[in-house]
Amino acid sequence: MNRKLDLRTGNPVWTAYRAPPVPTGKLTRDIKTDVLVVGMGISGAMMAEALTCDGHDVVVIDRRGPMKGSTSATTALVQYEIDQPLTMLSSMIGKARAVAAWRRSRLAIANLSAHLDALGINCGKAERPSLLLAGNVLGATGLREEAEARRAAGIAAEYLTRSQLGDRFGIERDGAILSPANLSLDPRKMTSGFHRAAQQRGARYYAPVEATGFSSSSSGVEVATDTGVVINAGHVVLATGYELASVVPATGHRVVSTWAIATRPQKLALWPEKAFVWEASEPYLYLRALPDGRVVCGGEDEDFQDETLRDELLPAKTERISNKLNALMPGLDCRAEYAWTGSFGTTSTGLPIIAKVPRHPRIHAVMGYGGNGITYSRIAAELVRSELAGHRDADAALYALPR
Ligand SMILES: Cc1cc2nc3c(=O)[nH]c(=O)nc-3n(C[C@H](O)[C@H](O)[C@H](O)COP(=O)(O)OP(=O)(O)OC[C@H]3O[C@@H](n4cnc5c(N)ncnc54)[C@H](O)[C@@H]3O)c2cc1C
Repeated sequence: MNRKLDLRTGNPVWTAYRAPPVPTGKLTRDIKTDVLVVGMGISGAMMAEALTCDGHDVVVIDRRGPMKGSTSATTALVQYEIDQPLTMLSSMIGKARAVAAWRRSRLAIANLSAHLDALGINCGKAERPSLLLAGNVLGATGLREEAEARRAAGIAAEYLTRSQLGDRFGIERDGAILSPANLSLDPRKMTSGFHRAAQQRGARYYAPVEATGFSSSSSGVEVATDTGVVINAGHVVLATGYELASVVPATGHRVVSTWAIATRPQKLALWPEKAFVWEASEPYLYLRALPDGRVVCGGEDEDFQDETLRDELLPAKTERISNKLNALMPGLDCRAEYAWTGSFGTTSTGLPIIAKVPRHPRIHAVMGYGGNGITYSRIAAELVRSELAGHRDADAALYALPR
C-alpha cells in the first residue's frame, strides 16, 4: 500500500472562511521531548492539546504544515452515529462490543462539545439533529430495528414513518431515524483552536518536517527526519491520518475515494432544524448546512485509491452529487460553488485502529478513520492520554490492531 498519498484535490469550502493561523518554527538542531506528535491535522491537534493538559512536554511536526492534509477536505458532520449501524456492527463483532463502541462515540461527542466550550474555541459549534434515511442498506424495517437497538443501549433514537418524515422535514422516504445532538462546526477553526491551546501550554511546532525512521529502545524512540535532525522522544504518537508511517502495519486498513460539493449561501431555502441528513445506502449521500446557508453534500464513495482516476472523476461526481441533492431537496439551488475530492482510510468494521505499534511499545498509532474520523480523533486523544498517564482505557480493546 502507498504510504504517501495525494490526500485531496479541488476546492474545499473551508477556504471561504478564515481560521486563526498556527505558527510553526524551523527545526535546526537535535531536540528531546516527552512526546512527539507526528501530524498537524485534527488528530494531532486533539492529541497535543490533551497531552499538554496533563503537563507533558510536547513537540508536533508535519511534513506539509498545519491543517494541510485531510482535515481541510472534511465535511465535518461530527456524529456519534458511526457509519456501521449498531445492528450490523453487532453481527460483525458481537453485541456487547458493538454497544460499547456506540456508547463510546456518544461519550466522545459529549466530551468534545464540553471541551470546546471549556477552552472557548470559537468554531461555530452547534448541536444538530440528524436523519438517517431508509435506503438500500437499511430499509424501513431495518431502521425500526436499528432505532430499537440503539434505545436498548441507552442511545436516543426516534423512528419516523414516511408521513412523520414528510410532515416534519419535507423529505420523501420510507422512514428515518431521528437522533439528537450531533455537532456541526468548522473543522479548521476547531483544529487551529486545539493547536493554539497546546502552543499556549508550551508545545513546540515545527514544519515542514517529515518523520522518516523510528528506532525504539526501552526508554524512548529516536526519530529520524528528512531535515537530518533527530528527535528523541519518550513516546511518539503517529497522528498521520491516512498516510501510515513505515513502522505501522497496514493490516485491516484500506484507502477509498470520496467526493463533496458546497452550494451558494441560501439560508431561506434550508430544510427544518438544519438536521444532518444521510442515507442508509451504498453509495450514500450525506448533507449538512453551514451557518451562512451553504449546503455541503458528499458521498458517492468508490472502493479504489487511484488518485489520478479519483481526480478525473471530479466533474462527473460533482454533477451526480448535485443531481442527487436536487432529487432529495428540490427547493434548493444545488449547483456546486465548491467541489473537491479526497482519499479516505477505513477498516472492515468502520472502527478505527488506535494501538501501540508491534515491537515499538512507545509508539502509538491512530489510523483507519472512515466517515467518523473526527469522533475517532477525540477517542484517540482520550485513549493515548490515559495510556501515558499509566491507565489502560476500558474501551482500548475495541480499537486494537486486528490479529
Ligand atoms: C471528503 C471527506 C469528507 C469527510 N467527512 C467527514 C465527516 O463528515 N465527519 C468526520 O468525522 N470525518 C470526515 N472525514 C474524515 C476526516 O476528515 C478525517 O478523519 C480527519 O481529517 C483526519 O485527520 P488527521 O489529523 O488524522 O489526518 P490529516 O488531516 O491528514 O493530518 C495528518 C497529517 O500528518 C502529516 N504526516 C503524514 N505522515 C507524516 C510523516 N511521516 N511525517 C510528518 N508528517 C506526516 C500529513 O502531512 C498531515 O498533515 C472526511 C474526509 C474526507 C476526505
